[in-house]
Amino acid sequence: MNTKNKGFDTKLIHAGDFHDEFGSAVTPIYQTSTFSFKSAEHGANLFAGKEQGFIYTRIGNPTINALENKLAELENGFGGIALASGMAAVSTVYAAILKTGDHMISTGAVYGPSRAVMESIFADFGVQSTYTNTAVLENIEKAIRPNTKMLYLETPANPTIELTDIKAACEIAHKHNIIVVVDNTFSSPYLQKPLNLGADIVLHSLTKFINGHADIVGGALIVKDEQLYKKVRKTMTYMGGNMDPHQAYLVIRGVKTLSIRIDRAQENAMKVAEFLENHPKIEWIKYPGLKSFPQHELAKQQMTGFGSMISFGVKGGYKAGIVLMNNVKLALLAVSLGGVESLIQHPASMTHAGVSKEARLEAGITDELVRYAVGIETVEDIIEDLEQALAKI
Ligand SMILES: *Cc1c(COP(=O)(O)O)cnc(C)c1O
Repeated sequence: MNTKNKGFDTKLIHAGDFHDEFGSAVTPIYQTSTFSFKSAEHGANLFAGKEQGFIYTRIGNPTINALENKLAELENGFGGIALASGMAAVSTVYAAILKTGDHMISTGAVYGPSRAVMESIFADFGVQSTYTNTAVLENIEKAIRPNTKMLYLETPANPTIELTDIKAACEIAHKHNIIVVVDNTFSSPYLQKPLNLGADIVLHSLTKFINGHADIVGGALIVKDEQLYKKVRKTMTYMGGNMDPHQAYLVIRGVKTLSIRIDRAQENAMKVAEFLENHPKIEWIKYPGLKSFPQHELAKQQMTGFGSMISFGVKGGYKAGIVLMNNVKLALLAVSLGGVESLIQHPASMTHAGVSKEARLEAGITDELVRYAVGIETVEDIIEDLEQALAKI
């Protein structure tokens, strides 16, 4: 079915999907590593690109391509590239665009490993980087060097929930021929479409909202134009960070309910945020949907919803955070986000326990910070769970 001019929800269900000769209702799993040629000439034509078809799963596979085509339509890109993980997408996009002597500018509060792979591996290959608060546009302007090739944005960034104005940042970057990559994991194309705002490449950890069921790890890159797409696709094919057909099948299944899952999750998040904002044991709260959120207007402008990630500070700091963790019963103590289940995390005592206090504070991870990924359970149960756990502090 051609879904190019159809609505977003129709694209979620039907874009990219194909039906086999038996009339399968869903895209089948082609769990095969390789594809046989009909003849020597057929093989030669496929390799030469004179005929469309499949050769080998690292290069392309019908199930994986179905997902790639769906994601490309959802983000309004020329083409999609599915990868083994979000980090495979990050390292592939760095490798595709940056070479020795090049410089990149990135949101300072990006997903930790996105910064770590740059500073600990790409730096060894001679790639330079500047990490800055891209919410302040002058910081981007100031960081630009003659050799700057990439602007890498994450918005909203985690755990500070800071937003970068994508459109304005792209205008600055494009004046200097800088390619803009946006990690859209926290919003998904349902809430934010960076390519429409001027970005060149969108990146996803499919592990989060897009798959949505906490049962696979996956990543994707969606590229706006054909030439750049071919370059990034070639890098993926050579470096081998490709997705597996079974993984693609699960993501295709998960993404079909993206909009109804996010609708419910953000409706719940708004109620949880309002509950926390008025709770005496809460010191501060950051949720883009709250009027008190400093960038509430920007959120309304570039996003069509506020998502379901909340950061808040508990009074009593580090110890109070631990008490809260040890008393919640419904929310799972886990990293990640975007699944149907609510997850809670206290970075100071959990994910960042091994990081020096200085480095932790520099990343905006204060002792009292708690991150809550609101799920789609009955909202009264989520609130009741928090209420009884907060009462133990
Ligand atoms: C999880 C995450 C990643 C990395 O994705 P994986 O699938 O875990 O490799 C990248 N960016 C953001 C914003 C994430 O939340």
